Amino acid sequence: MSLSRVKVAIRCNICGEKFVLRGRREKGKIDTGFKQCLCNNTLDFEIQEVAL
Ligand SMILES: [Zn+2]
Repeated sequence: MSLSRVKVAIRCNICGEKFVLRGRREKGKIDTGFKQCLCNNTLDFEIQEVAL
């Protein structure tokens, strides 16, 4: 199994908005489909995997 479902907490380092998303972990990378924050920030995030 190389795919596992994870929950991911994303915090925007620009405005501080938090998002909790479901994603998939694939070969050490987490894919959530998250594109950008409400403040149009697309790059500067703190991403944490949350235990399900
Ligand atoms: Zn933001």
